[in-house]
Amino acid sequence: MDKIATPQRPLRIAIIGSGPSGFYAAEALLKEKNISVAVDMFDRLPTPYGLVRGGVAPDHQKIKNVIMVYEKVAASPSFRFFGNVKLGRDIQVEDLRQHYDQIVYAVGNESDRRLGIPGEDLSGNHSATAFVGWYNGHPDYREESFDLSVESVAVVGIGNVAMDVTRILAEHPDKLASTDIADYALQALRQSRVKTIYLLGRRGPAQAAYSPAEIQEIGSLESADLVIDPKEAQLDELSASLLKEPEDKKNVDYVQNVAARGEGSRARKVRLRFCASPVEALGQGGRVTAVKIEKNRLVSDGRGGVKAQGAGIFETLPVGLIFRSVGYRGIPIPGVSFDERAGKIPNAEGRVLGGDNKPLPGQYVVGWAKRGPSGLIGTNRADSVATVKGMLEDLAAGALKPAPADPHHALPALLERRKVRYVTFPDWKRLDALERERGARSGKIREKFTCVEDMLSALENAALKTP
Ligand code: NAP
Repeated sequence: MDKIATPQRPLRIAIIGSGPSGFYAAEALLKEKNISVAVDMFDRLPTPYGLVRGGVAPDHQKIKNVIMVYEKVAASPSFRFFGNVKLGRDIQVEDLRQHYDQIVYAVGNESDRRLGIPGEDLSGNHSATAFVGWYNGHPDYREESFDLSVESVAVVGIGNVAMDVTRILAEHPDKLASTDIADYALQALRQSRVKTIYLLGRRGPAQAAYSPAEIQEIGSLESADLVIDPKEAQLDELSASLLKEPEDKKNVDYVQNVAARGEGSRARKVRLRFCASPVEALGQGGRVTAVKIEKNRLVSDGRGGVKAQGAGIFETLPVGLIFRSVGYRGIPIPGVSFDERAGKIPNAEGRVLGGDNKPLPGQYVVGWAKRGPSGLIGTNRADSVATVKGMLEDLAAGALKPAPADPHHALPALLERRKVRYVTFPDWKRLDALERERGARSGKIREKFTCVEDMLSALENAALKTP
């Protein structure tokens, strides 16, 4: 057999997932000067880019410019995209092991954490994940519905996802009209009667998970006032003594300045509450009508940090919707190791671990599936580079079992035998152009296809028209 990772016999890699971490892994592999690689990237959706398409808020278009980097990666002759191919449904890990020397799981975190409080299953209780997927036209969430005829809502958690959800609820819909927001979401937001959004942080202003830019954007909305009780903006002694990070200091200063502004005169209010944990969702006729919160005091967590502890003081906020935005978690994939407790793929520096806690040869993980749901898009670059370093070390150490089958023709043939209608990168570029054309007709950046069947039939129709 030819030596592996040479032009005659490239190192064959399957990357599962086409979000930022998958593309950064592909980029790092394709950049390697001393070896030849062939990268096949798979996604369960016909469209690439993961959370850049389905997560980043429509009014944050600049963030989506990272796609230009991913397009350069995809232009490499050593890169192929197989969209609409789901691991565990259309192909199995065993198929990948037959065709690829190394597998990289870049599957992100597709589910969310729950609060575990009574009433969480009442109608009107939603995950932020569902709302974000809905307004972004993600096929999994297009059928969700949110009763925006209510006047008050609670968003639980104060990370950047909570900021996105709050902004979309509070922003004037005209500000979203030219973006790539799903049309049905824009129509629903135009009918919205939401006036008050309670943003509930379980700890204080010094421990907020949002970035300074994100909270400042909420505080600068034309359509809503950010309102903070001056008493809740004050730091307790413990938090004040631990306040060191420049970002945390910025956040505290900002919150205290906003608290001094008072109520303001805008029709909508975003009421940011600190040291408040939901303890029960209350309802009538199966629907959320209020959320009961408990005030917290902040105490040492014994590890140099601060944790919230219920103070036994309760308050009831009348709300008709609750969005929990308390973090994402992964979901298991058949045949792939999974740590149920942590909600991610167990690994040692990106090498996937088996049941005996030993690395599984040729299996790697990057991004949120590796480290959990933290960091900004760019954080994934260094993370993927680190995993790729381990992959190349394993190659150099001869720790790989070369795959017997060449995926170049065999993999497309396998998918065709199984009647999987896979979508190539040129197919995606066609869909991309169609979405932009659809958008241009109504003055939007793009009008996404939100249903897989529509994407596939649009591609068939486009193919029929191509001479
Ligand atoms: P996150 O940053 O981890 O924030 C989670 C929030 O939920 C925290 O405020 C956390 O409070 C709170 N929380 C957790 N469990 C809770 C409970 N049981 N009860 C009440 N509150 C609870 O997560 P995220 O907002 O989902 O964001 C995920 C990652 O994506 C982050 O790294 C974020 O920066 C990134 N992101 C960035 C952008 C952007 O740059 N524009 C947009 C979206 C997401 P504690 O701090 O007390 O745990």
